Parts: sequence; C-alpha cells; structure tokens
Amino acid sequence: MIDLPKTASVVVIGGGVMGASTAYHLAKAGARQVVLLEREPFFGLGATGRCAGGIRHQFATEINIRLSQHSLRLLDELEAETGQPALVRKCGYLFVLTRPEEVTAFERNVRLQRSLGVPTEWLSGDDVRRRLPSCVFPDALAGTYLASDGLADPNSVVMAYVNAARRLGARCLTDVKVTGIELTGGRVTAVVTPDGRLTTDCVVNAAGPWSAPVAALAGVALPVQPVRRQWLTTSALPSLQADFPFVIDFAQSLYFHPEGQGLLTGMSNPSEPPGFDQSVDPAWELVHLEAAARRLPLLEQAGVTSRWAGLYEVTPDAHPILGDTPVGGFFVVTGFSGHGFMHGPICGLLMAEWIASGQARTLDVSALRLSRFADPERTVEYNVV
Ligand SMILES: Cc1cc2nc3c(=O)[nH]c(=O)nc-3n(C[C@H](O)[C@H](O)[C@H](O)COP(=O)(O)OP(=O)(O)OC[C@H]3O[C@@H](n4cnc5c(N)ncnc54)[C@H](O)[C@@H]3O)c2cc1C
Repeated sequence: MIDLPKTASVVVIGGGVMGASTAYHLAKAGARQVVLLEREPFFGLGATGRCAGGIRHQFATEINIRLSQHSLRLLDELEAETGQPALVRKCGYLFVLTRPEEVTAFERNVRLQRSLGVPTEWLSGDDVRRRLPSCVFPDALAGTYLASDGLADPNSVVMAYVNAARRLGARCLTDVKVTGIELTGGRVTAVVTPDGRLTTDCVVNAAGPWSAPVAALAGVALPVQPVRRQWLTTSALPSLQADFPFVIDFAQSLYFHPEGQGLLTGMSNPSEPPGFDQSVDPAWELVHLEAAARRLPLLEQAGVTSRWAGLYEVTPDAHPILGDTPVGGFFVVTGFSGHGFMHGPICGLLMAEWIASGQARTLDVSALRLSRFADPERTVEYNVV
C-alpha cells in the first residue's frame, strides 16, 4: 500500500519527461506539497522511455523552433542544474529531401530558422551524397544539416528531474494510477486513486498518449490521439563512417542514428490507426527494414539487437497543448506529436510559470492553448517524422 499524502498544492499526473520536468520546476519555484503520480512501477516507461532520443532545432514553425532553442539549452545545463547529465551527443541532424515540394517547404523553413538565429545549412543533392558515402540517395534533391542537433538520453533526463524534485520536497510516487478527478462548481477539488484520495485545487495532466482519457476524468475533451511508432537497434557496424549524423529520409519518414556500436532506425507507418497497442508490428518492421537496407546497404551485415514500439501523442496541428482548460485548476501539457522528449525541459518550466502566475513568462505560448481548436484556421507543423 502506497503512503499517499492526503493533500497537495499541485498533483501532476504522469511521470514521463513532461510530468518530471513540471514537478521539478514547480518545486524549484517554491511550490510546497507537489505530488507527481505515475501508474507504472518506474518513471519514464511511457512514450519518453520508448523514444528515439532525438533533439533538433529544425522545425517549420516559430513556436517549435523557439521551444527547441530554450529546451536544448536546458538539456546542456541539466547537469549543472540537477547534478545529472542529459548525455547530450551533438551528432547533427541531416534531413534528406527527395521531392520538389519538400524542397520548397524546407527552403521556407530554413529561412525561418535562420531568422531566429538557428544556422541550418542548405545542402545540394551532391552535398548529401558526399556527406553520406555509406548511404544510397541517387534521388536526393537537397538536404538540410545542423551540427548542434543530435541526441540525449530520455531516462537520464526523467530521473534528473525526479531526483532533483524530490530533493526540493516534491513527492514523486510510482505505482499510483489516477482513476478519478473530483470537481465542485467547475473547479478541481480532488484526485482519486486506488490508494486513496488527495484533496487539491490544481492538477496537471502530463499523461502523454493517455492524456485524453485522463482529461475525460475531469470532463475535458482533448484532441490527442495515441499513434504507434516503432524502431529497432542493430549490432555493431564497424565500417560505418564515424561522423554518421541523425539522417532522415523525409519522404519515407525513415531515420537512422548512431546507437552504441551500431544504429537505431525507425520508420513511421502513415497508415497506422490510432490506438493504445504498444507491441511491435512485425509486418511493418519488414517494410521498414527493406526500405532501410535500400538506403543503407550496410544494414544487411547487421543483426537486430532490440526492437521497441511506443505511442506518439498526436494533435490535429502537430503542436502541443499547454496551459489551462475550461475546468478551473485543471492544466494540460501534452500533444507533442512525435517531438516531446526534446521539448520536455522547457515545457515543464512553462507549465510551472503558468500555474504560478497565470501565464508562461519565458516564452509566449498562448498559441498552444487548448482553446485554439475552436478556430478552424490552424498552423500545422510540417517537420514531423
Ligand atoms: C517511437 C518513438 C520515438 C520518438 N522519438 C522522439 C525523438 O526522437 N525526439 C523527441 O523529442 N520525441 C520523440 N518521441 C516523442 C516523445 O517520446 C513524447 O512526445 C514524449 O516522451 C511525451 O512525454 P510525456 O511525458 O508527455 O508522456 P509519457 O512519457 O508517455 O508519460 C506519460 C506518463 O503518464 C502515465 N500515466 C498515464 N495515465 C496515468 C494515470 N491515469 N495515472 C498515473 N499515471 C498515468 C504513463 O504511464 C506515462 O508514464 C518519440 C515517441 C515514440 C513513441
């Protein structure tokens, strides 16, 4: 039986990167009695622990680029801030473009990135082929590359925030599933679990792919759908070039990045229906492996050492939802649509600022409010993998 507190100033639901970062930043800002509840036996077993670890500035909208600028700086500073490093590896991200319409869109995106101070390089098709001698890209029309994009370690980031939040007095508990949220007069009054009830007037829904069912407990409809994505890692590839970056064949949503002595590779299934199934789809793995070996024939010399599937938490415009809801005291930080690991550090800070002062201060994120979906006009993020 878990020793659940009877009351909390803030209850954060979900112990992935969003919940851990939010709990830490609330505690750091001086909030007392912060309680983080995770239903699994360990933190970070949801989308965060199953993600590919990519961190990048190369997005198509100003808000996502700015979230990355802040968040990647926080990842660089994580060890100084919490005592635990994010294990950042700046191997660079190289998007390979094979369709004329992608070239047009990425030209616009790179102009936007540069205008915000992100020095993304533009590559010709021949530059791409020279830069990736082990790959087969006869159809590459162009590419974009940023050396300061790369990788970080999801579990290190989650545990850095959980441990630091605990040192500041937050209660971070596993094996506690939230099964109910009580309201009085349209405001949150308590959170219900099989281990007891916590009275509180503030709840943060950081339940990632499960955030819509958690929001429904408070009577809030969230347009967030879980969509399965999967990847695998390979055995050692000693002949792979040492400076192999994070490579994305954008048209196929196919990607590779260095992992241990081998590679991690994934490919998004455009026909994957929404659902909570987290088992690896063997039929899609075959499609993926064939496509991957066509681009990187070296893969035929490697074995598969691990395979994982997890869930993206997808919104209609591929942007996150951050802020308040029609229910008083009920906040959400979710819907990152495939790039939430990298935005976890800053979004936890923004969420904590919003709760403390009614708005985020470090960055204007009013465009990310849930209420935006009432407007049929949407700005959609194009650089989704
Ligand atoms: C295959 C894959 C690859 C990805 N690659 C990248 C990448 O390279 N870079 C990147 O930035 N992002 C990537 N992502 C996306 C990223 O993983 C997510 O956007 C991010 O981890 C979301 O974090 P979260 O904390 O919101 O959700 P989660 O990590 O899923 O955390 C939510 C937590 O809530 C808990 N929970 C749910 N319901 C309840 C309840 N009722 N009570 C208590 N707890 C509950 C869950 O158990 C879970 O631990 C990838 C995702 C996948 C699936």
